[in-house]
Amino acid sequence: MSERAASDSTRLPLVFDAPRRGKPPTHWTDLDPAARKEAVRRAGLPAYRADQISRQWFDRLNDDPTTWTDLPAAQREAVAETFFPSLLDTVHDLSADHGHTVKTLWRLHDGALVESVLMRYPRQGEDQHMRTTICVSSQAGCGMACPFCATGQGGLQRNMSTAEIVEQVLAGARALHRGEIAGGPGRVNNIVFMGMGEPLANYNAVVGAVRQLIAPGPHGLGISARGITVSTVGLVPRIRQLADEGIPVTLALSLHAPDDELRDEIVPVNTRWKVAEAVDAAWQYARATKRRVSIEYALIKDVNDQAHRADLLAKVLKRRGDWGWVHVNLIPLNPTPGSRWTASRPADEREFVRRLEAAGVPVTVRDTRGREIDGACGQLAATGSNRKD
Ligand code: SAH
Repeated sequence: MSERAASDSTRLPLVFDAPRRGKPPTHWTDLDPAARKEAVRRAGLPAYRADQISRQWFDRLNDDPTTWTDLPAAQREAVAETFFPSLLDTVHDLSADHGHTVKTLWRLHDGALVESVLMRYPRQGEDQHMRTTICVSSQAGCGMACPFCATGQGGLQRNMSTAEIVEQVLAGARALHRGEIAGGPGRVNNIVFMGMGEPLANYNAVVGAVRQLIAPGPHGLGISARGITVSTVGLVPRIRQLADEGIPVTLALSLHAPDDELRDEIVPVNTRWKVAEAVDAAWQYARATKRRVSIEYALIKDVNDQAHRADLLAKVLKRRGDWGWVHVNLIPLNPTPGSRWTASRPADEREFVRRLEAAGVPVTVRDTRGREIDGACGQLAATGSNRKD
């Protein structure tokens, strides 16, 4: 407190509107380069400070403005207070796979809880370098109500802001940069919007976050759009809109059933946009962006894993042309607590794969990283009580 009071003489004028209820405070990472210059100017600083600040934040991954020696010492505290309100507080980190998987539970400024998961994989053929993927949340909770997904059971609390989304990645990037994650110092290679929430239901903040992630230094993290995957339950108008943005991120469509009767039940948004419409939108996305779409399919024992559904899935996808546009990613179901559903029998999973392959469909089976820390797909529930330590 006394430190804050001492800096009163250098306090910058208010440059952002007061935060509204539920809405997080505006942060440097919410602004595009032009808005950063304007904010700096309104705060009474010369415009060139904007790039200096961005260079510290994004290029050097230094999140302590009091150490930014290129800023006058008297202004550092005020810059921190004005542009860098704290958005994410760590509640706890849980790790698995010898520290190569780390799940973080975050508390947002209003108490909402979200999770992100960092995963490192050895690069094929080289054991010195690891690839790192961060799985981020885009909403606190989720309104899509898929019955097999832990997040879906709690409903939607609120949308996250652009900065709240990007800060999950930056926190991981900083920890990697400092060598705090097993596997040695490194950088973020891939980002998947497969944490909590439906990214396309929080469209503007998510597209804003993608723009910050791909913006070259000093304005953003400089991550390749190809390394970013946006996963959706199938909000068809938003898929079309995303195709028109001109950002070639990879689209994942959570299909989970090839027929409307079953999909209506396990992906309730299907009652609004049907299998055919969702697959068409995905195909058009692939055509517009030249990026191969990933069809996500959680294999649920005796629910969607029958041989005839594998055949129907191949048929539904093939209707849209040859196989260059798509591949199927099968996810063994991670059973959520209290659910009557469980993962498929190994023999049924093998047969499902065999039938897709026989039809010529490119198919992979996802590994179930982070399962023991409830960090695997669909297990992010963030109740605060899922501590295992
Ligand atoms: N709302 C987005 C992101 C959800 S999480 C979407 O629906 O795509 C990313 C993936 O995990 C989705 O494909 C989702 O359907 C899947 N998933 C959810 N719960 C799961 C579970 N219990 N087991 C396996 N996959 C699950």
